[in-house]
This record gives sequence, structure tokens and C-alpha cells, in this order.
Amino acid sequence: MRLWSWLLMAAALMLAGTPLAGAKAGAVQVRDARLWTAPDHTRVVFDLSGRADYRVFRLHRPERVVVDIGHARLSTDVTRLANASHKDPVLAAIRHGRPKPGLLRLVLDVKEHVRPRSFLLKPMHGKPWRLVVDLMREAGRKQPVVTASQVRARKVITIAVDAGHGGEDPGAIGPHGVKEKDVTLAVARRLARAINRRPGMRAVLIRKGDYFVPLGRRVQLARQAHADLMISIHADSVRKRNVAGASVYTLSEKGASDHVAAMLARKENASDAIGGVMPGEVQDPLVNRILADLIKRDSLDSARLLADEMLRHIRRVGPIKYGTPKHARFVVLGAPEIPSVLVELDYISNPRRERLLKSRRHQDKLARALLEASESFLRREGRLPSPSRAEAAAAKAAPRS
Ligand SMILES: [Zn+2]
Repeated sequence: MRLWSWLLMAAALMLAGTPLAGAKAGAVQVRDARLWTAPDHTRVVFDLSGRADYRVFRLHRPERVVVDIGHARLSTDVTRLANASHKDPVLAAIRHGRPKPGLLRLVLDVKEHVRPRSFLLKPMHGKPWRLVVDLMREAGRKQPVVTASQVRARKVITIAVDAGHGGEDPGAIGPHGVKEKDVTLAVARRLARAINRRPGMRAVLIRKGDYFVPLGRRVQLARQAHADLMISIHADSVRKRNVAGASVYTLSEKGASDHVAAMLARKENASDAIGGVMPGEVQDPLVNRILADLIKRDSLDSARLLADEMLRHIRRVGPIKYGTPKHARFVVLGAPEIPSVLVELDYISNPRRERLLKSRRHQDKLARALLEASESFLRREGRLPSPSRAEAAAAKAAPRS
């Protein structure tokens, strides 16, 4: 009898020791985990049932990052992420344990030296409390910096192609589950390929996969690449499902052109909070800026010209929601010297348009329209020769038979 009760007690203790056992009330639950692979870091996100006390530190030989969460229990299978992480260049596996009662320890086994950083995200847009752990890659991951003179010497027109959202931030979601972040990346990739096929032009993809890039960082990347123009690609969403059509936006320093533009800017600028930006990671590029910047006024005028061209060309492949460009304070359009536009390709909230946005054929059409709009803008700015002159130059350059 005494042995029996001892066994029961031992069993209860063992159960309490495993993470999935019901912990005492008030414990924070780790309910889900996701993995996002970016070129310079891997982001692991844990969904929490509430705010948590946590600590992140490194251990070496073998390399690993330890995440200790106080008064927590695990109600999801984190090892499942390890299976998904096979393709990840950084994360090898995730283990968990309980070094002392109440303390949940998650061990991230990593394949190389990383610098971990972490922060909590408050609940928003249907997402719960989240603990973000970024495994920053250390050596030689920096993109080569191209100097302005190198770019000028090459006489190559550079177009920054920015696929909106990504990673933790899906953007708008269509009635059949198509995510804005996937549509924007697909169109961006097609556009970049089309640009790179054009002689004298090159594309820089601001986001190359399914991970989040902070808005200010997008601006930095375009500036580092000495982009001649920047196109930020998005898809809009409203409650009314029959609304369709594209719209184009440029930066406004003062106020928004109207209520719709202001609302949209607020929605798109929320991306940082949803996608997860570490406090102080990037500053709002519009905040610390000399406003009376002549270069900027120039690039704002150019951006409006570019926006006109965008609408003129997109009109050929689909409906237009607003016939003239609108203006508002979009953080992603904040590069002072780069004419930048934000294009809402269509309404993903409209089931018919959602289906089209997913189709490769239509994505190609949209990408072509964006490319042709860029080219005719560059011609109007005198940056590209007009087609007739280009042909004449090509004929002149061709060897005579
Ligand atoms: Zn968007």
C-alpha cells in the first residue's frame, strides 16, 4: 500500500516535470512556434498566452542559444520546427527541458556562431503575445556595398523592387486564404527577372523570401543599392468583397491627399509592429530628416510622374480603383533621393481578383506593366533613350555585314 502511494506520487512528480503536464494556474503557455529564414538571420517566433519573463543566452561547444521562460509551459510540439528547419542555414534543432520547477528551457541548436537578440511583441491584429528570437549571423553576411561612382561608371539603371510584408506579417488575407505577402513576392520576383533581362537595367529585390524586413530597413537597402527608383508592391483589402482595382501612392510630407490614403498609410505602416521590429532597430526614416531637402522635392515630383505612368500601364491589364495617384506618409517611401511609389495591385479581398492575383499569367502581366511604366518614366526623365533612338543606336553599334 505504501509502495503504491509512493509510485503514484512519483508519477505525479514526473508528470509535473514534463512540459506538457498541466502546470499551475497563471503559467504562460507557449502555444505555437514559427521559423523565418532571412539572408542575414533566422527568426524564431513563439506565440505566448500572455506576457512572459524570459532570458536568452548563448552557450558554446556545441553552439546553442538558450531561451528560458519563467512560469511557463509548452502546449505545442516545438521539435516539429526542427524538422522544418532542415533547410534553414542556422537552426539545427530545438529541444526543451525543465531545469527547475516552473522554468521552461528551450534550447536552439545552431549550425554556426550567431548573435542572438530577442524582444516581446504585444498582441495586435489577431496575433497574441509573441517572443521573437533572432539568430543573427555573424561573419561575412553583409551585402557588398556598391559605391555611387561604381554605379555611375556602370551606367546601369537600378530598380529597387520591394515585396510588401513577409514572415510574421502576412499582409491582407483573401477570402480563400491567399496571403498578400505571397502575391507581392511572386510579382516582385517576376518583375525583377523582367528588369534583369533588359540591357542596362538591374533589379534589387528588397525581400527575397518569406521573412520580414522592417520598413526603414527597406529604405536603407534601396539607398545602399543606389536605386534610381523604388516600387513597393502590395495588394489592398476592404470589407466589401466586390471592390476591385489598382491604386498608386506616393509620399507626402504634409498630409494625406484624402482619408482613404491616410487610412491606407496607417495600415501599411503598421507592418513593423506586426512583422516584429526590435525597439530601436531602425528609426522611422521620416522622423530625423531635413524636410526642406531639394533633392527630395525633386524626387517627390519624379515619384508623381512615376505614379502616373504606373496607373497608365496597369490600366491595360486590369481595373483601376483610383484614376489619379494619392499621397500619404508611407514609411517605406521615405528614401529622400529615390523616386518611390507604392502600388496596390488590386483587392485581394475580392474573391475573383484574389484568384487572378494568385495566377502566374496575371502576375506576369502585372510585372510587365510595372516594368513598362518604369521604362516610360525613365524615358520621360531622359534616363533611357526613346525606343526609336535606342534602335538607331543598336543599329549603329551592330557590325556591318
Ligand atoms: Zn500591404
